[in-house]
Amino acid sequence: MKNLERVNRYCTICGTEAVYVCSKCGRPTCRKHYSLLRNLCSICESLLCEICGRNLSIGYCIRCGRVGCEDCLVQLSTISYICVECLRSWGGVHDCRQA
Ligand SMILES: [Zn+2]
Ligand SMILES: [Zn+2]
Ligand SMILES: [Zn+2]
Ligand SMILES: [Zn+2]
Repeated sequence: MKNLERVNRYCTICGTEAVYVCSKCGRPTCRKHYSLLRNLCSICESLLCEICGRNLSIGYCIRCGRVGCEDCLVQLSTISYICVECLRSWGGVHDCRQA
């Protein structure tokens, strides 16, 4: 017995028939605008943290320029962030744990 969910809507990005629904934003998307690897539409994928790839990004690292989420970015000032990886190679401003 198959109970396939019908997505009778259209891709919000290009307007062709939607095949998938984004697991993050619920937006119907076509095959072209969906990443099966991440279960995300291409909009969410482009907003995704480039460091962990799990959460939506909140800003970008002033050092490497990658976008990151609140877990992966450390706030330096009201508008600037640095990612945890750069922070580590930078000597660790906030992280005083020694490996
Ligand atoms: Zn599309
Ligand atoms: Zn999405
Ligand atoms: Zn992250
Ligand atoms: Zn960085």
